[in-house]
Amino acid sequence: MRFSQLLLPTLKETPAEAEVVSHKLMLRAGFIRKLASGIYSYLPLGLKAIRKVEQIVREEMNNAGAQELLLPMVQPADLWQESGRWKKYGPELLRFTDRHQRESCLGPTHEEVITDLVRKNIHSYRNLPVNLYQIQTKFRDEIRPRFGLMRGREFLMKDGYSFDATEKGAEETYEKMKHAYHRIFKRCGLSFRAVEADSGTIGGSFSHEFMVLADTGEDTIVVCGQCAYAANMEKARAMAAPTRPAEPQLPLARVETPGKRKVQAVCEFLGIPPQNLVKTLIYVADGKPVAVLLRGDHEVQEVKLQNLLGATEVRLADDKETFDCTGTPTGYLGPVGLSLPLVADLEVTAMANFTVGANEKNFHLRNVNIGRDFTVGQTADLRMVTAEDRCPLCGGQLGLTRGIEVGHIFKLGTTYSEALKATFLDDQGKEIPFVMGCYGIGVSRAVAAAIEQNHDNDGIIFPVPIAPFQAIILNLSTKDPAITRAAETLYEECRAIGIEVLLDDRDERPGIKFKDADLIGIPFRVMVGNSLTKEGKIEIRERAGGQTTAVSLADTTARLKQMVESAMTNSQL
Ligand code: ATP
Ligand code: MG
Repeated sequence: MRFSQLLLPTLKETPAEAEVVSHKLMLRAGFIRKLASGIYSYLPLGLKAIRKVEQIVREEMNNAGAQELLLPMVQPADLWQESGRWKKYGPELLRFTDRHQRESCLGPTHEEVITDLVRKNIHSYRNLPVNLYQIQTKFRDEIRPRFGLMRGREFLMKDGYSFDATEKGAEETYEKMKHAYHRIFKRCGLSFRAVEADSGTIGGSFSHEFMVLADTGEDTIVVCGQCAYAANMEKARAMAAPTRPAEPQLPLARVETPGKRKVQAVCEFLGIPPQNLVKTLIYVADGKPVAVLLRGDHEVQEVKLQNLLGATEVRLADDKETFDCTGTPTGYLGPVGLSLPLVADLEVTAMANFTVGANEKNFHLRNVNIGRDFTVGQTADLRMVTAEDRCPLCGGQLGLTRGIEVGHIFKLGTTYSEALKATFLDDQGKEIPFVMGCYGIGVSRAVAAAIEQNHDNDGIIFPVPIAPFQAIILNLSTKDPAITRAAETLYEECRAIGIEVLLDDRDERPGIKFKDADLIGIPFRVMVGNSLTKEGKIEIRERAGGQTTAVSLADTTARLKQMVESAMTNSQL
């Protein structure tokens, strides 16, 4: 490709609308343009990077035995009514009515459509397992589209769905997909971590998110410094606090704590550490209040609470709701004498002689003990893990780090097949539902994530496997026939041996060419200019690290090929 013919509208200034670096750079480098909120056009270079990711995804999915198909983007409401998601999905689902007054939606995901396809076309265990995927535009009417391609309303996803005859088969397929995902992100040249994710009612370790590690990531992940344990915040566990020698139970005492409502204020006032206080929070789970007990320095992880209660929605009650169901203002609540269902975090059960609210304004109770003073309905791990915690597997120090979710794999079980009555005949001739799995990759988000992870002040530093071009040849003096001839020859040679190359043949100053090459992040920059005239040398500069190698004109193509290939193999498994 010739730069002079390329649609590449680069910008000098950073557009004010962009907050994160990938968004800024993709706009500045002329990769994308916004059409409407969360909706972008992919320009040629942006699309090239996307296609690179797609191709890696495709190869690895095919290698793992999956088959590509393409499903409709417009989906009839009936199917969503069958699965129950027409109601449940909420406003992220873009719904519309066609000219025949039929309700439809734009696919945010395709479980319904694929399950319908399979139930109509596969009837026997003999045709199982089957694993189907597509790479397609999805639409989700995100409440806050932001960060460019990171959270768009319209975006590209690879979504795959597997159908197995047995639980065991589905688990094997899941492992295969996990392995394929490791290969995909490794081959993309990304630094990533697979983390355990919440699998809702399915349970077990059958949901993993693939996180590209980047400080700007929206998600926090928990990683063990010593072993392979990694999880997202919703799922992360910590080693239980060491059991302390039983303390003698002290007599219960009611103390005045005037105006002290916050944990810190109460603790300072009473001269106790927050580890000695139990806070009582009122949550509303599917419309019903429940009291949650937690150590003073801990925070509730709402997904864990939701799973424990089997609720579809949990939220913290506001001050009015709290008062209405307890008769006590927020800040003075406690479990003693409270007539609401009580659930406690595991750590609370290890505490003795702790402080709680007295269910009376301006008063707390000290030396409270479970069993003697109140009883708890359910206990479970309900809290957010912190950087002070230790690994649940090996006891190593846990660390919190930021990541960008680029992939998510999930064992679905029979949720959809049961809802849509998608069944087959097993080897005993019995009609049973398919055991399903689903596997997503945010293709357009992966390109943005790659940029978040790989950039400097001058622009993008693409990993070679997903760069729009592997090399860029700069003709640094278009007026000089010898230089122009050399640049053109190199360009033809590179193309002939399969190097993906862009020739900067524009009539521009070298400074501009250097800047643009850096901005768009092409891994190898081949400079044809003064050093050729003076010393007969061509310089090849690596975008990552800035190392420059000088070679003779005759050796340039071979050397470049070698450099590209070695960079590609480094990201192979
Ligand atoms: P998130 O928590 O970020 O909203 P999700 O759990 O809704 O993601 P999935 O439904 O698992 O995502 O979709 C599969 C993949 O699609 C995600 O791992 C992510 O990489 C990508 N993705 C999801 N929503 C968006 C979006 N709005 N814009 C770009 N990519 C997205
Ligand atoms: Mg989402």
